[in-house]
This record gives sequence, structure tokens and C-alpha cells, in this order.
Amino acid sequence: MRISRAGPGRIETVPELPEVEALAADLRERAVGRVIDRADIAEFSVLKTYDPPLTALHGRSFTGTGRHGKFLDLETDPPPGGPPLHLVVHLARAGWLRWRDSLPEQPPRPGKGPLAFRLRFTGGAGFDLTEAGTRKRLAVYLVTDPAAVPGIASLGPDPLDPAFTPEVLGAILAGRRTQIKGVLRDQKMIAGIGNAYSDEVLHAARMSPFRLASSLTPDDVTELHAVIVSTLREAIARSDGLAAGDLKKEKKAGLRVHGRAGESCPVCGDTVREVSFADSSLQYCPTCQTGGKPLADRRMSRLLK
Ligand SMILES: [Zn+2]
Repeated sequence: MRISRAGPGRIETVPELPEVEALAADLRERAVGRVIDRADIAEFSVLKTYDPPLTALHGRSFTGTGRHGKFLDLETDPPPGGPPLHLVVHLARAGWLRWRDSLPEQPPRPGKGPLAFRLRFTGGAGFDLTEAGTRKRLAVYLVTDPAAVPGIASLGPDPLDPAFTPEVLGAILAGRRTQIKGVLRDQKMIAGIGNAYSDEVLHAARMSPFRLASSLTPDDVTELHAVIVSTLREAIARSDGLAAGDLKKEKKAGLRVHGRAGESCPVCGDTVREVSFADSSLQYCPTCQTGGKPLADRRMSRLLK
């Protein structure tokens, strides 16, 4: 098994709620109303459903785009006698969507390249779903009900939904003796926040990533709630109007601590530090978040023994 590690200073561009929201907005402008010529997989493992088949998309057009957590949802007009179809995409860790003004008429040949899925509209424009690396985790589902996608059915509340109140957050955290960083990233508890934005939220809330969720006071919960909503809304505002190709750059520029180990905290000037795990790492500012004390990094202490 290949283990990918986010090395020191490396900024992950895994699409999270703000990027998927921006992709949905971009596709609303570009794709809605166009007639689908064909949809093809270039990598067998990315298609997670078989009924309806991808050919059911041929001749349909997209009527709207949306988001469920980190899942992108493209809805079509209803085929004769049936309900609308939903093309649901999860970009996973290294996946991305690229709009193309001109695609060949022939379907892509399955191969070893980054191309995982291609959708072409009549007229030639369309989009590619690509994923770096040999192991494809990107997932495509064609369903009549998005809730049929297991990862969507199990999602926690969406932090941008007005129903996500401080009370709802408090109920999620109450009695949970796990680290707040893990709770924020857990899609079953809160939908759409991943490794990058949980680092950013905890930095803005001046809270240690290792703090136990159950230890938050009602005031802490109220503040954390406000920071979650403002951090995500600000990221979306920065992405507003950006095409898919510019989103990654914007995400990197907007992050304050995530992926910035060794750089200065923009709030206090202390050096941003990092804790590494088997397949990910977190970044934080000791002065802002942990009373000036660096957190133990088990990987580092193991290497130093
Ligand atoms: Zn700081």
C-alpha cells in the first residue's frame, strides 16, 4: 500500500466545503442548460453505481448544481417517465475538476494517466475529473436520489445551513472525549470541513487541536460556532467568481496556518508548528493556541530516540 505523506510545509489542496461550493457555482454558470453528449469513465474504479448506467445521461441536460458536504451534485432534467438524475462526485484527496472548451468526440481510452472521468456536451465543451497518483479514490455516482450515496446519507449537519446553531454544535461536542480537531474533520459529525479548514478554524478560535471536545464551555462553543461559520464564509467569498483552475491558488493564499509550518503566524508572529501523523499533518500556532507550549509530535520524538 502506498502511503502519501504531507511533508513539512506542503499545503494540501484537498477540496473542502468552500472549494466544492465554488465548483458548484462555477458549473452552474458553465454547464446548466447544456445537453450532454456522452459521459465516460477512464478509470474503472471511479464509478460506484451501475443503475442507472452512465448512458442514461446522454441527451439529458443539467438543471442545477449543489453540494452535500464535500460532494458535488449535478442534477439533470428528468428522462421520459423517470425522476431527474444526479451525477454526484467526490473529489477525494487528489482529485480535481477541469473545464474544457473542446473535447474530442471519441471517448477517452482507459489508461494510466490522471484522467478518471470525462463528460462532454454537444458542441464539444465539457469537463474532466482528474486525480493524481496511481490509486484512484475519486468517486462518481449516478443516482436518482443523492441520499442513496452512503457518504451523503451519513453526513452530519452542514455548517452553512441556518439549522446549524451553537446549540446543535454543543450537542455534537457534549460528552465526546475526543480531540476537537478530529471532531471537526469527521464528516458524520459536521459536513464539509477537512484537514485544512479545521486547522484554520482552530487557529481563529485560539484553541488547541488536542483539546477534548467535551471540555468546551458554553461560551467556547458559541465562539467556535461563530468562527466555523465565518472561516468558511470568508473562504467562499474569496473563491466567488473564480473558475475551477484558479481555486487551488486562492485556497493556498488564504490559509493562515495550514501548510505553513516554519512560517510566521500572521496574528502574533510566532513560528507555525506542525504535528505529523501517518498520513496527514496538522499545523498550529503555539502562542495563539497552546499557551506558547509546542505540542508533542510523536513521529518526531520517535525519530529522535
Ligand atoms: Zn499566533
